[in-house]
Amino acid sequence: MIGKVYIVGAGPGDPELLTVKAVKVIKKADVILYDRLINPEILSYAKDSCQLVYVGKSDGKHTMEQSKINTLLYFYAKKYPNVVRLKGGDPFVFGRGGEEALYLSEKEVPFEIVPGITSSISAPAYSGIPVTHRGIAASFAVITGHEAPNKKKNVDWESLKGIDTLVFLMGVTNRQEIAKKLIEIGRNPEEPVAFIEKGTTEEHRVIESTLKEVAKNPPEVSPPAVFIIGEVVKLRNKIRWFDENKIPINYLVWRR
Ligand code: SAH
Repeated sequence: MIGKVYIVGAGPGDPELLTVKAVKVIKKADVILYDRLINPEILSYAKDSCQLVYVGKSDGKHTMEQSKINTLLYFYAKKYPNVVRLKGGDPFVFGRGGEEALYLSEKEVPFEIVPGITSSISAPAYSGIPVTHRGIAASFAVITGHEAPNKKKNVDWESLKGIDTLVFLMGVTNRQEIAKKLIEIGRNPEEPVAFIEKGTTEEHRVIESTLKEVAKNPPEVSPPAVFIIGEVVKLRNKIRWFDENKIPINYLVWRR
């Protein structure tokens, strides 16, 4: 017997930003291997007999090695019919879901991918920042901020000059270097930026600034946060709705 592995996106934090398909597979899971950044409320859909296995970061330690997670997936697939691998946001956006799928494919373990709502788009949306907007932004890119500029060559920085909206994930630590590098490649230093901490959750917090300011004197930001750069950030002044008491009246009425 070999079970099926579902590689599932759990969304950015708000437990209601889960797909119907995700809920369906979580309900029938015999085991769930889950990451850090998964809202515990989501795990409550699991049946009582479901085994919950945490494979995220533990205090002071790095994330569990990918090879170890892969081995665990294989181990549980041999043991149970329905194995769920639950990941924050979307599994194929900096979630290493592709690596797990490759491994399962090599081992001839059947699998399905259940896409999730990525923080790169939804955290800005909950902040009143559309990643594209007619007349303002016709393109956007999602980039890893983990690779410090000038150190590694994975990110093609020059190519980021012509993209209207930039969204960095895992970019809190390197925020100052990222801002400096973007100014260096020719982006407007006055360009508005926002950091969105714990997007879509009750602790959702938005810090607005400019590229120049982040390069000179970066604000305090605590992860997880999305770092968004572009003229679209200004739209927040008019269409913010979720955070900081700027919820439109109609929304409040509807909530009641
Ligand atoms: N697969 C995930 C991203 C994983 S990388 C997705 O699609 O959202 C982890 C990074 O995602 C964090 O460093 C942070 O930049 C971002 N992130 C994840 N959840 C977030 C949230 N609720 N608010 C802000 N940023 C978040």
